[in-house]
Formats: sequence, structure tokens, C-alpha cells
Amino acid sequence: VKRSKVSGNAEAYQQQSFEIARAQFGMETALRRAVEDGSMRLTFQPICDLGTGRIVSFEALARWTDEQGQAHPPSAFIPVAEESGLIVPLGRWAIEEAARTLASWDAAHGGDCGVKLAVNLSAIQLQRDAIAPVVERALARRGLEGRRFTLELTESALVSDPDRIAGIMHALKGLGTTLAMDDFGTGYSNLAYLQKLPIDILKIDRSFVTGMLADRDKIAIVRAILSLAQALGMQTTAEGIESNELGQTLAALGCTYGQGFVYARPLEAADAYAMLVDRH
Ligand code: C2E
Ligand code: MG
Ligand code: MG
Ligand code: MG
Repeated sequence: VKRSKVSGNAEAYQQQSFEIARAQFGMETALRRAVEDGSMRLTFQPICDLGTGRIVSFEALARWTDEQGQAHPPSAFIPVAEESGLIVPLGRWAIEEAARTLASWDAAHGGDCGVKLAVNLSAIQLQRDAIAPVVERALARRGLEGRRFTLELTESALVSDPDRIAGIMHALKGLGTTLAMDDFGTGYSNLAYLQKLPIDILKIDRSFVTGMLADRDKIAIVRAILSLAQALGMQTTAEGIESNELGQTLAALGCTYGQGFVYARPLEAADAYAMLVDRH
């Protein structure tokens, strides 16, 4: 039987989709075990007050090295976790692990070590899990006050059921936590939500910060975000600061906090605590 070109392509396409599905399934299976066997861990990147240089918080960033010793970036495994629903146990683990780490730093310090931990919450996780009680229990188990946590959400969380997400955000605020809008400027364009929701911090996406000094359009966008935040009584964090000059410029423009490789890369917990002790 002579195959037509079209059906040959369809077969190739089907074969390719199958390979992708199999690779995803393989990653899913490994990912499912990772949370349990300890091959998933958190790293911590400092967020500094751009005025004083003090470390105010650390963002908890997940890292995964599989059984073959292969490291996978979050940009590879978070989407797989979201599609498979594994983001719920992974997200709960990140909240627990962040609370455990912060409590261990407090214990080493002999009291409140003086920083908050920022934990990322995925939009899918917010849809599928009861986050406020999960956060409340994790804090309570470690004897931590709510003000010690910042929760980072993205605009995509607001797309599907904004009323439900608003309820969750108010519940999280009720615990005393800080709420940050992550990757601000890259998502949803209806800004009306900003005045309705209890957001404390806008995190200016790295794409506007990188190369900002040589790009008038990026500076214009950053200035607009800073003045929007100021008008709404919110603080700001710039991500992706890779030079001192960039940090100084952002401070002069009125940005509150900064995060980036010039201050530190994401660090292992012990190294993050050592940096904190060294700086305070
Ligand atoms: P994000 O929340 O926007 O985190 C900031 C990302 O920017 C991190 O990438 C960090 O390593 C990177 N970064 C910080 N400073 C610089 C810099 O100066 N230059 C450059 N080039 N990059 C910088 P990472 O750790 O690869 O995480 C990527 C994304 O994965 C995060 O973006 C977040 O959306 C997601 N993610 C990471 N951990 C978790 C987690 O535990 N839960 C959830 N839901 N998402 C997570
Ligand atoms: Mg984040
Ligand atoms: Mg971010
Ligand atoms: Mg980002």
C-alpha cells in the first residue's frame, strides 16, 4: 500500500507526540518519588533593601537532581508538576520545608533571625489545594508567626476564578503573611485587580530589568511600574539585578527591594544562613 504524504506526516506526528508523552510520563514518575526521597530541595536567594543593603528576606527556589544525577531546572519540572497535579504535594512540601528551614535558622540564632521567607505558589496549586490552611498549619507546627512568610503569586492565578483567589488572598493576609505579585508586567493586562486585592509588593519581572540601562523602553516600563506601585501604596522588588550600577539606578528610581546574582545566586540553606549572620 502506497502511503500518502499526509498520512506519513500524521504517523510521524503521532510517533513524536508519543515520545513526548513518554518522556513526560518518565519525568512525572521520577518527580512523584523526588518529593518523598529527598532529591527535591530548596535553595534560598536573598532579597535586599536597596536603600540600606540589608537582607530582608530569602526567596525559596526548588531544585531537583534526579536519580541519574541529572539536574532539572524549575522551568522544566514545574510545568510537568502542574499538568500532572503533582504541584499539590510539591507545593505543600515547599511550604513545609520553608517553615522547617526558617525555624532552624531561628533556633541557631536564638530567636527571630530577622528575615522572611518567600514561597512561590503556582496558579494550579491555588486552584486545587486549600492553601491558607496549609500555610497556617505549617507555620503553627514550627511556632512561626505569619509575618515571617511572603507568598508569591502570578497574575495567571487570577484568570480562572478571581473571586475564589481573592478569598484565598484575604485568608492569607489574615494569617499575617505578605503577598507579592510575581513576574509583574508579563501576564494579565486588566489592572483593575490591583486595587481590589490585598497585594503588598509588585515584583518587577526580570525581562524589564535585564538590559534596562541601555534600553529607554525598559526604563520607561520600570518607571511606570514603580509609580503605579507608589500610587497604590505597594512596595516593589526588582528581579534579575546583575550589576551594582543597576541596583543603584533602581534604588534612585525608588524601587524598594532588589534580588539578583550581584547580591547572591540561590544558595543552599546553610550558605544562606551564613550570609545572613555575616551581614547582620
Ligand atoms: P521566579 O519566582 O520569578 O524566581 C526568580 C528566578 O529568577 C529564579 O529562577 C532565580 O534563580 C532567577 N534569578 C534571580 N536573580 C537572577 C539574576 O540576576 N539573573 C538571572 N538570569 N536569573 C536570576 P529559578 O530558580 O530557575 O526559578 C524559575 C521559576 O520557577 C521561578 O521564577 C518560579 O516561578 C518557579 N519556581 C521555583 N521554585 C518553585 C516552587 O517551589 N514552587 C513553584 N510553584 N514555583 C517555583
Ligand atoms: Mg518568585
Ligand atoms: Mg519572579
Ligand atoms: Mg520571574
